[in-house]
Amino acid sequence: MTARVLVVDDLLPNVKLLEAKLTNEYFEVITATDGPAAIELVKSQSPDIVLLDVMMPGMDGFEVCQAIKGDPKSMHIPVVMVTALSDVADRVRGLEAGADDFLTKPVDDTALFARVRSLVRLKMLMDEWRLREQTSEQFGVLSEETPIMLEDATRARVLIVEDNEINARRLRSVLKGDSHAITLEPSIEAAFDLAKTAEYELVVVNLRLKDQDALRFCSQLRSEEKTRYTPVLLVAEEGDTERLAKAMDLGTNDYLIRPIDENELLARSRAQVRRQRYQNQLRRNYERSLEMALTDSLTGLYNRRYLEAHIGGLLDRIAGGRRVLSLMMFDIDFFKNVNDTYGHACGDEVLREIGMRVIHNVRSFDTVSRFGGEEFVVVMPETDLVVASSVAERLREYIAKQPFKITDPVKQIPVTISIGVVTADIEGDSTAELLKRADEALYEGKRTGRNKVIAWTDEGLRLVAPEAANLVVENTA
Ligand code: GH3
Ligand code: MG
Ligand code: MG
Repeated sequence: MTARVLVVDDLLPNVKLLEAKLTNEYFEVITATDGPAAIELVKSQSPDIVLLDVMMPGMDGFEVCQAIKGDPKSMHIPVVMVTALSDVADRVRGLEAGADDFLTKPVDDTALFARVRSLVRLKMLMDEWRLREQTSEQFGVLSEETPIMLEDATRARVLIVEDNEINARRLRSVLKGDSHAITLEPSIEAAFDLAKTAEYELVVVNLRLKDQDALRFCSQLRSEEKTRYTPVLLVAEEGDTERLAKAMDLGTNDYLIRPIDENELLARSRAQVRRQRYQNQLRRNYERSLEMALTDSLTGLYNRRYLEAHIGGLLDRIAGGRRVLSLMMFDIDFFKNVNDTYGHACGDEVLREIGMRVIHNVRSFDTVSRFGGEEFVVVMPETDLVVASSVAERLREYIAKQPFKITDPVKQIPVTISIGVVTADIEGDSTAELLKRADEALYEGKRTGRNKVIAWTDEGLRLVAPEAANLVVENTA
């Protein structure tokens, strides 16, 4: 793993020392000797992690940290405070300023590399989500999205894995201070089952469980899909350095050393919960933007972008084989009149009702999409022209025969549609050609009076007779 590390310290020898250690481990190192220079480098070089001295003349480490964490452009960059003081109050102040971790001078190599690696690994994961989000932004689907914020970190679902009752109760009573919903579990086996089903935002584990391997538990959490990103905070003891380094390598997020300081436990828990929530926001946004990119918000049907890609895939599949594919394109007749007479909102209701009727009238593996304003396309895999025409005729009838129920005071509107049906049976048929033929058939339906189904047959465009509706054997599946 290679990463760019920014080392900030007002004393040049300190900078040189850390630089040498990190360069030896193949990290790329950039340096600054005061706060403003550090902030400048964060902006221009976007490092993967910042090692920040606390005591500096002028702008101190806390202020620099606050500036980095307060800027949406840099708040995702992990900051490790490097302090000569092992003063707990200082640590808590740093964590509250948004620092992700602490190292005490003189810096211990194991702790240094463990923490840098673990934080960089986490950042790279987040970078990936951020990148996907940027892609969706370019897609133009995230424009009205609220910007991602650093969230409140209280009221989290926390699982404490501890077989010593006194320790467990102490952890719980401290964490209650942040109104977390806490579950205590002494057995790692039961804890793993719990973690898989309930979505915990933090798991606190005693590294020294009796007769149980806490490290194995951490590694299980990391390899299980459901718990891969759940933050894990270890409670260790002085002298556990080796096992802690192992734990951090396995992807554990942070640790505390006994005796536990109340404020440090709260602050470290908050840092983990906050990061987890931030990451979830990124993921949710991404998933939502995907959905928005592929579906139509008014009807919930697939949109044109999705449909065209989908037809392309289906055509590739049938090429050369003996499989068939049909589709129908339909358009509401005189829809402008509906808007003009009853208003646009009423028109929207009709569009939604159309969507629902179509969904209920076709098989579950047919794809229904809103192709344009009041134009829809249904793709029917494994369906020949005769069956597709029959489905289309049945749909036409189902729309025309039952007037649409609309919110008061309008109550009822008669609606009809015109449909064009085509089958992809021409060698090398493309999505565009298929849709073009469907459009021609649909237009013929409009031209000859509307409320009609027209099919593209070997003999050209033909009206599908109402009796064809009876042909369909299978209904919605
Ligand atoms: P034709 O039978 O020839 O299709 O006549 P038409 O009136 O349906 O066709 P035209 O293309 O003249 O009008 C389509 C109308 O559909 C105009 C447009 O305002 C309306 N429309 C398109 N999208 C929406 C929408 O999302 N909501 C509503 N309410 N109306 C829409
Ligand atoms: Mg129309
Ligand atoms: Mg139209």
